[in-house]
Amino acid sequence: MTSMNSTPTPEAAVVAAPDDAVATATREATQTGTERNLLLGALPEREYRHLAPLFEAFPLDFGRVLTRPGDIEHYLYFPTAGTISIVRPARGGRMVEVASVGNEGVSGIGAFLGDGRDMFESVVQVAGEAKRVNAAALRAAAQPGSALDELLRRYTVAFLAQSMQSVACNCLHSAEERFARWLLSAHDRAGRNEFRLTQDFLAAMLGVRRATVTEAATALRKAGVIHYLRGRVRILDRPALERASCECYALIRAAFARVGA
Ligand SMILES: [Zn+2]
Repeated sequence: MTSMNSTPTPEAAVVAAPDDAVATATREATQTGTERNLLLGALPEREYRHLAPLFEAFPLDFGRVLTRPGDIEHYLYFPTAGTISIVRPARGGRMVEVASVGNEGVSGIGAFLGDGRDMFESVVQVAGEAKRVNAAALRAAAQPGSALDELLRRYTVAFLAQSMQSVACNCLHSAEERFARWLLSAHDRAGRNEFRLTQDFLAAMLGVRRATVTEAATALRKAGVIHYLRGRVRILDRPALERASCECYALIRAAFARVGA
């Protein structure tokens, strides 16, 4: 993990100017693919420029562990591509994904809103890149009333909704539906049609046996929905994948869409 040697501290909290909306729209229009984090993209231009020196590019390498249970989080990660899984390791070596973060959000929100002590493990499941920021520096810059403070609070509500819907999903929906849901989210966040995905890792994330993932992947492959070979998956038929998923995908996507609206 790279280190952050110095952190510029802004002189004052930022308050959005009314005419920032046009500049924000222009910046969003020019952000594409790997440059885009939707939370940062929703910031007024003036506030974004003020905060930008705090951020550093951070590679999200496949399998990289960002935090472990008991760690004190010092950073927030705003992915521009890729997926960070929030997982709960259990006794006996098992683990299950309880939430995930992509370019719609931020990982490490507890370091901004709370004391940063983590109960869970954050691990990169689909490779990409993030903008990393020191939590204390961000708190100093984004005081109550700033657009970022408001966005992060709204995001936290959506993140909670995602976690609660995942509880329902794990109880109500089949492994095949959850597999399709997971692929849709990964596809949204990867910024590309093909990405690395091991069956062992996904089985652990979904809390099912490896054979169950194999069956679900085989069914989607035979139906021409995905191509899956040697740990890499390619999405071939996105509408069919949406039909194969439970409704949780659309519900959670809508919750996050409201954050920056
Ligand atoms: Zn579901």
